[in-house]
Amino acid sequence: MKSKRKTPESLIIRPPSEHRSLLVRLTRGCRWNRCKFCGLYPHLGEPVFSRRTVAEVTHDIDLLRERGARSDTIFFGDADPLQIGLDEFIEIARYLRTVLPVRRLTSYARISTLWKLKKDAIKDLAAAGLNRVHIGLESGDDGTLNFHRKGQSPKMVIDTTAWLKEAGIEVSFYVLLGLGGRDNWHNHIMETARVINETKPDFVRIRRLWLYRSDTFFEGPENPLFKEIRAGTFTPQTPEGTVLELRLLLEELDSNLSTMLVCDHQNNYVHVAGVIKDDRQDMLAAIDEFLSLTEEEREKHYQTVGSGI
Ligand code: SF4
Repeated sequence: MKSKRKTPESLIIRPPSEHRSLLVRLTRGCRWNRCKFCGLYPHLGEPVFSRRTVAEVTHDIDLLRERGARSDTIFFGDADPLQIGLDEFIEIARYLRTVLPVRRLTSYARISTLWKLKKDAIKDLAAAGLNRVHIGLESGDDGTLNFHRKGQSPKMVIDTTAWLKEAGIEVSFYVLLGLGGRDNWHNHIMETARVINETKPDFVRIRRLWLYRSDTFFEGPENPLFKEIRAGTFTPQTPEGTVLELRLLLEELDSNLSTMLVCDHQNNYVHVAGVIKDDRQDMLAAIDEFLSLTEEEREKHYQTVGSGI
């Protein structure tokens, strides 16, 4: 049945790098919804996962076209749009490319979903016009991923990234500083560097673990990690600890990587950006300059950096 909507349905979250893109919603919320560090979709008012129909999504695309949408970059959400189904995703991507001039089609994607699809289906996605995926690597450390119930292993990340690159789809990883807490931060960073060195993603986007309460901005549930904190099974990293994590990560990345690393989120305490093989020393110098401030100045800075999505 044809959708009667007069405006396209909105996404809950989009990456900052997609701020100029047309946003197309294929699914609502997160089907997995188990990562202990996240809980974002329930917090932001979308506790239940659901799929939209192809007719609903293509109707939204028609609305974007009728409104004279100007961007030639498109972003698919919510958390894992491939949950709509491979055939449905491909049908929507193809339709999009027939009715709009698309230079880049980007989607959020979970490693485990892509890993289950395997190499040939990923090639089909590329053939349908998917150019880039934003993936939550979060950590390359198996223990950290297991603790947080991310539902992926470093091996799955390595295999899947190779299939994506072979298909010509750009890979953008999110890395979450603080995810190992104070007890496991070193493993978290060392193993994350190892996975990045092995997979050579196109982008690494740095985030800091955000511990929100139910009344921070929205009335949805608090961050699930608070249960672990109260139980004494997770000790949050200090602000300075997250800066040192970023420094160690940069030190451990291979000097020949063409990966672009960016801290493109307001909740980072230090914002550095550059291509690892060209700009690593400058990024390390910027971090060291920050660390050379007095303790009082650094603390003041940590207090002023807000957190949000
Ligand atoms: S991190 Fe991603 S996969 Fe995990 S619960 Fe959040 S949205 Fe879902």
